[in-house]
Amino acid sequence: MGAPTWAGAVLVVGILSTPLLFPPPRPLLRRLLRPRKCQKCLGVGNNLCQSCKGRGKQGGLFTGDPLMKCSLCQGKGRQLCNPCTGTGLSNFWLYRPVKNGGWGPRGS
Ligand SMILES: [Zn+2]
Ligand SMILES: [Zn+2]
Repeated sequence: MGAPTWAGAVLVVGILSTPLLFPPPRPLLRRLLRPRKCQKCLGVGNNLCQSCKGRGKQGGLFTGDPLMKCSLCQGKGRQLCNPCTGTGLSNFWLYRPVKNGGWGPRGS
């Protein structure tokens, strides 16, 4: 009548050892932890300046105004990407922020 006494012990051992023998797949966690490219800057970390369209200057030929250094990007023609704060990763918060890595090869 009922299960033999050792059956309970086997069951407990089986349950305890199951995670070791068969590690549960965690695709969601792995997907979350993998660095993902920022969708806005495509991993570059900065985008064309919206004000000067990457020229680094405002005014000039098209508007008739005197050519001036773009005040938004300080003449760099590029803006730090907002969603990823210039890291190029959409889940950058998993990683250490890059020190002043925003402006790319054009440099200071
Ligand atoms: Zn970005
Ligand atoms: Zn600009």
